[in-house]
Amino acid sequence: MLPTLFISHGSPMTVLQDTPARHFLAGLGGLAPRPKAILVISAHWETNMPNVSDPPANETIYDFFGFPKALYDLRYPAPVAHGLARQTAELLGAAGLPCGTDSTRGLDHGAWVPLLLAYPHADIPVIQLSVQTSLGAAHHIAMGAALRPLREEGVLILGSGSFTHDLRRFRPGSTRLDAPETTDVSAFSAWMDEKIMAGDLNALADYRQLAPYAADEHPTEEHLLPLHAVLGAAGPDIKPQKLHSSIEYGFLRMDAYAFA
Ligand code: ZN
Repeated sequence: MLPTLFISHGSPMTVLQDTPARHFLAGLGGLAPRPKAILVISAHWETNMPNVSDPPANETIYDFFGFPKALYDLRYPAPVAHGLARQTAELLGAAGLPCGTDSTRGLDHGAWVPLLLAYPHADIPVIQLSVQTSLGAAHHIAMGAALRPLREEGVLILGSGSFTHDLRRFRPGSTRLDAPETTDVSAFSAWMDEKIMAGDLNALADYRQLAPYAADEHPTEEHLLPLHAVLGAAGPDIKPQKLHSSIEYGFLRMDAYAFA
């Protein structure tokens, strides 16, 4: 049974910049048994109802603007996990969560940036599952729970978001990559880490009300909800493991967890 993973993908520059997070992601492929296929739940694909990607081939999506040309030259042509797409839609449908199939969607940078580092040969079949930001944490825990059987078949369920994500604080040209962490980021992250390590799904489902500065660190929820999805896929008896923690720009926590 494969663990589920939550990782923080950070800026698209993660793939080029020499940072602790990049170093961690580059070693991620060696941490768990090699998956047969990967299902990525990325913050960068938001829809009103669950959708899986099932295109003829995985196109690399450059869903960012104003970055160096070197980023737009990168490709991640992993095969499409067609069978996994069908199975994902069936499992969600059977759980009362109707799921559409998108035959045009490729891999956004929430998927290909970490995968390019972790599995650089792009030889493991991949598909994506969208997030429904307006439906909140409990919906994503339920979505993940419906997908739990996939773990027994060697599927890696990878949530890709950001542990904190208030991009309003970024000032181009003046916000330094090595800026010190602000106290609100520390307080929110400490609360989250405590509940994650305790496997307290009830508290995490209600993090928006309970966690200090939740709405400051996540003005919108899409970058945290992949965490709830992989927690759901791991539960109900969650064995958490903290894999990584680092801070970029003083406000962007790059933390990662595995859930056995
Ligand atoms: Zn992102």
